[in-house]
Amino acid sequence: MNRFDFTPPRRSEAGEHLRRQVRDFLDSYPRAGERNTATIFGGFDPEFSQALGERGWIGMGFPERYGGGAYGLVERYVVLEELLAARAPIYAHAIADRQSGPTLLRYGTPQQCEEILPRIAAGKCYFCLGMSEPNSGSDLASVRTRAIKVDAGWVVNGAKIWTSSAHRCHYMVLLCRTSDRGEARQAGLSQFLVDLKTPGITCRQIANIAGERDFNEVHFKDVFLPDAALLGKEGDGWKQITGELALERSGPERFLSHMGLLEEFAATLKLHPSTAGAIAVGRLVAHLATLRRMSRSIATMIADGQEPALHAAMVKDLGTVFEQDIPEVVRLVVQSEPDLDAGDPFAAALARVILHAPSSTIRGGTKEVLRGIVAKSLGL
Ligand SMILES: Cc1cc2nc3c(=O)[nH]c(=O)nc-3n(C[C@H](O)[C@H](O)[C@H](O)COP(=O)(O)OP(=O)(O)OC[C@H]3O[C@@H](n4cnc5c(N)ncnc54)[C@H](O)[C@@H]3O)c2cc1C
Repeated sequence: MNRFDFTPPRRSEAGEHLRRQVRDFLDSYPRAGERNTATIFGGFDPEFSQALGERGWIGMGFPERYGGGAYGLVERYVVLEELLAARAPIYAHAIADRQSGPTLLRYGTPQQCEEILPRIAAGKCYFCLGMSEPNSGSDLASVRTRAIKVDAGWVVNGAKIWTSSAHRCHYMVLLCRTSDRGEARQAGLSQFLVDLKTPGITCRQIANIAGERDFNEVHFKDVFLPDAALLGKEGDGWKQITGELALERSGPERFLSHMGLLEEFAATLKLHPSTAGAIAVGRLVAHLATLRRMSRSIATMIADGQEPALHAAMVKDLGTVFEQDIPEVVRLVVQSEPDLDAGDPFAAALARVILHAPSSTIRGGTKEVLRGIVAKSLGL
C-alpha cells in the first residue's frame, strides 16, 4: 500500500437506506431541541443511547453473538456522521462504540466479551480512557501508574488525568506499568479493564474553560483488580494502544464538532448575503468535503482489516485544524459579539465554539505529535 494512498470509499446501499432511517428517527426524537452545538459528542443522554441500541445502531461491527451482526463498519460510519451532523447526544456510548468495544473484541477474553459487548451494543455500558497522567500526556510510554502482581490479581496505585466522563462511566480501559521499562521505553505496559465501582478508585472532576465539568482526575489507591481484569497480554499495552489509534483519530467526530456554528453562519448569510460570506462558506464546505472523503476512505480501509494509523493521524490533524478555522473565518464575516446567553443563535454558537475549539488539537493527540508521526512515517 502506498502510504498516502487513500482508497476510494466504499458506498453501501444498506448504509444509504440506513441514512434515511436515522434522519427520520432524529426528526421524531422528542429531545431533538436540546442538542448542544459545540461539544464533541452532542451530550450525555443514556436514554438516547439506549434508543439507538434498540435499533442496532451501536456496536455495528460486533458479531451477532455480542449484540451486533446486522451491519458492518461502513454502515456504522453513515449512522455516526448523521448523528454528529445533527448534534445528537451520543456521548454516553461513543467511546465504547468507537474504541473500547473494538479493543475488547480484539484482545478481550471470551468471558470479558460476553459480559460487556452486548451491554455496549444495547447502549447501557459506557467507557472512559485512562491514558494521560500528570506529566504523561503525549509521551504515554512514561506513565507511572503501576500494577503490582499479587495472588489472583493486581494492586494498582497512581493517578490519571483529563479522563473524560469518568465520573459517569461504568468502565475504564486503564494503561499502566506492570514491569520496568528495560531497553525499550514502551515495554512493560499493560491494559486493564477496570470496573469504576472498585474500592479505592476516586474521581475528582475538573472544570474546563467553558465551566463544564467533564474532565476528571482519577486516583487509584491500593485498588485490587482480579486476574480476569487484564486486557490482552501483560506487557503488550503499547502495541494494543497503538492498534486503537486509527479508530480514535480518523472518525467524523474529528471535523464535525462545530457544524452547529456553520449552520448558524449559513442561516445568518441567508438574511444578510455578501460576497465575503459566499467565499467563506465555499472555502469551509470544500475543506469539509475533502476531510469527509479522507475519513470515509479510512473507514473502508479499517473495514477491510487494514490499520491506517498514518492516514488517521493526517485526518485528525487536518480535521481539528479545520474545526479551529471555523470560528476564525466566520467571525471575520459576521460582526457579532460572542455571547453564551445571547438570544441570537449565531452569537451563542460562536461563544460556545470559541471556548471549545482550543481543545480539538489537544485531545486524542496534539497536532505537533501527529505531525511528528506523519514525518516519521515518511522517513523524514
Ligand atoms: C477535551 C480533552 C479530552 C481529553 N480526554 C482524555 C481522556 O479521556 N483520556 C485521556 O487519557 N486523556 C485525555 N485527554 C488528554 C490528552 O490526550 C492530552 O492532554 C494530550 O495527549 C496532551 O498531553 P499533555 O496535556 O500532557 O501535554 P504535553 O504532552 O505535556 O504537551 C505539551 C505541549 O508540548 C508538545 N509536545 C509534546 N511532545 C512533543 C513532541 N514529541 N514533539 C513536538 N511537540 C511535543 C505538545 O504538542 C503540546 O503542545 C483529553 C484532553 C482534552 C483537551
